[in-house]
Amino acid sequence: MSHLLEFDEVDKYFGETHVLKNVSLDIEETEVCVVVGPSGSGKSTLLRCANRLEEIQGGEIRLDGIPLSDPNADVNFLRQRIGMVFQSFNLFPHKTALENVTLAPRKVRGLDANEARARGEELLERVGLGAQMNSYPNQLSGGQQQRVAIARALAMDPKVMLFDEVTSALDPELVGEVLEVMGTLADEGMTMMVVTHEMGFAREVGDRIVLMADGRVVESSAPEQFFENPETERGEQFLSKLL
Ligand code: ADP
Ligand code: MG
Repeated sequence: MSHLLEFDEVDKYFGETHVLKNVSLDIEETEVCVVVGPSGSGKSTLLRCANRLEEIQGGEIRLDGIPLSDPNADVNFLRQRIGMVFQSFNLFPHKTALENVTLAPRKVRGLDANEARARGEELLERVGLGAQMNSYPNQLSGGQQQRVAIARALAMDPKVMLFDEVTSALDPELVGEVLEVMGTLADEGMTMMVVTHEMGFAREVGDRIVLMADGRVVESSAPEQFFENPETERGEQFLSKLL
């Protein structure tokens, strides 16, 4: 079975509000699934449920076939295997880039200081920040901080990475450097779910575009299909509103 992350008829409510409606979605190993859709359609909630930041009220989410809600599963272990990066970087302000990246591996995974440091240095090199390892977040640009946040998520050796509008808060000139790191990760075979408004990235890097509207998956297509000849009216509407 090559489905790495499965959403199986997932329902999510906030109080009375039905926010995810019977969402089924399978993410294959190494797949880059780009999730698009209007504000409020449930994109962030979908990712947050996958990371157990939110509980679901119906259906099941599985990683490698193991339900996240399995009482016998090690939920913390499953969660560690699902890395997440948000619009706001949330780095620890009084820790250096390297310390931000090594903290969780030391505390949660129990790596010793040298192991964590070696791995942290390797990851910061990989996101192009070899020269900034000892900088504090306020000495870094937004794009650099977001790349530290990506390295920090990678430090937990995730099987899948979830990105929620990670470039939306950045100045336009800093967007490219972050997308480039994400593109490289994708090329290296990382399985990814990416919520983004960057349609160039979606088209070039995405293996599949999933359109959400009103809590449902309304279209799931290959990028060429989606951008040139969407299958649904919702897809056409979405595209017609892009610049
Ligand atoms: P998107 O990321 O596509 O903009 P969200 O997943 O953030 O959409 O939100 C989907 C719906 O859930 C919206 O109607 C939003 O108002 C609602 N929602 C999101 N988070 C909460 C929350 N913590 N409590 C109540 N309602 C929420
Ligand atoms: Mg959102």
